[in-house]
Amino acid sequence: MTDNSRLTTNYETVIGLEVHVQLDTKSKLFCACPTTFGSEPNRNTCPVCLGWPGSLPVLNEQALKFAVKTGLALNAEIAERLKFDRKNYFYPDLPKAYQISQFDMPVNKGGHLLIDLKRADGSLEEKRIGITRAHLEEDAGKLVHEGVKDGSLVDYNRGGIPLLEIVSEPDLRSPEEAYAYLLALKAVLEYLEVSDCNMEEGSLRCDANVSIRPKGEAKFGTRVEIKNLNSFKAVQKAIQYEVERHTKVLESGEKISQETRLWNDDKGQTFLMRSKEEAHDYRYFPEPDLVPFTLSRESVEKIRATLPELPADRAKRLIRDHGLSPYDAYTLVQDRKLANYFEAAIKEKAGAKLTSNWIQSELLALLNSKKISIENSPVKPADLAGLVRLIENNTISGKIAKDVLPEMFETGKSAEAIVKEKGLVQVTDTKQIEEAVDKALAANPKSVEDFRAGKQQALGFLVGQVMKETKGKANPKMVNEILEKKLKIST
Ligand SMILES: [Zn+2]
Repeated sequence: MTDNSRLTTNYETVIGLEVHVQLDTKSKLFCACPTTFGSEPNRNTCPVCLGWPGSLPVLNEQALKFAVKTGLALNAEIAERLKFDRKNYFYPDLPKAYQISQFDMPVNKGGHLLIDLKRADGSLEEKRIGITRAHLEEDAGKLVHEGVKDGSLVDYNRGGIPLLEIVSEPDLRSPEEAYAYLLALKAVLEYLEVSDCNMEEGSLRCDANVSIRPKGEAKFGTRVEIKNLNSFKAVQKAIQYEVERHTKVLESGEKISQETRLWNDDKGQTFLMRSKEEAHDYRYFPEPDLVPFTLSRESVEKIRATLPELPADRAKRLIRDHGLSPYDAYTLVQDRKLANYFEAAIKEKAGAKLTSNWIQSELLALLNSKKISIENSPVKPADLAGLVRLIENNTISGKIAKDVLPEMFETGKSAEAIVKEKGLVQVTDTKQIEEAVDKALAANPKSVEDFRAGKQQALGFLVGQVMKETKGKANPKMVNEILEKKLKIST
């Protein structure tokens, strides 16, 4: 590993991603078959998606609208003239022996996506990643090998499901940037409600094109395409693996061959699948059963009017209107439901910064430990706001609040009720705190001596003793102040 990281510093990594997004329509791209996941094999099929002679495809209008909506959100140029093409190849999961796709006239051309990269100092850096194109195409069926003794089975339920293939420019420079791009893209798709983005069910699939070149070199190196990337983490790991493999090959004086490789997540390696095919191998030609048509600018503008506030805009608003740090804001907006929860809580007059902290640390930790999603949280936004307000108006300390939240989680009671019931109200009475401080000082002369000898840690210990004496209820700020004052007076 050390050797590789030394070597990779001489090279620059170049990555482009192709993401296949399943559009969340009720029916398939060219027929009326349902798109429901998990149906009995070959149940969701008809003569059109099985490629029977004489059957004719009809374009799903909703899929086109979703494609345009995504294009607009990615700042793409929306085509005026649309055409579909046949991509020809034989494989048992493709009953027609061609896939209907878009070759030279994709619905979306150009565009960009802004991604946020965390710098070493914790701040964020925005980077613009170019989008080459995004086109509509139909999915293929699925071969089933598991549990089959002789040969394989085929399930055509997926055949004809609408996909949008989003191709990025080779603008990504590290596995971490690729990961950030996928997170940002997924967030946009979720905000647009064009896909459920469920990776386990195959709604979001990714191929990566990776190459390396000597630093300062303008020409791209030979690229390799990696397939079978089933999670964002797998994308990151597979790219890292390929970068190291390429580096070793080049350093040994050999050449990279252009090929397609499969990622094996268990082994943590890529394996050769086939040497890379070129576009002309697919003998693309215009789909004769779907005539080219014009997409009116009026209909595009109608779709533009339905665009929601997008993650990047939402983050900017949270920073501007609520004073969140860029890092907090971008982390929250990455997950639409999390950001919704946050905004609902601050509507209940809880401070934004503290609310964001409590959601991102304590609340998420509790939810994750019980595998509950944020929208099903037993602690509702208004409940969390109630807890945050109690901290803000000094009724309880943050430390006590950490015990109150799990109790709210378990019992469904409000923070206020729990605090009252258990007598957790913070002690802010100066006299009472002074008494506890005196007691702590009298009981720990050694620590007092240490503090005077310049040992700052002794102060922390004494604060702890006072908190213990008050059962954690003393206002920590007051304890510190009174303790320091008393220690200085008696010097
Ligand atoms: Zn069908």
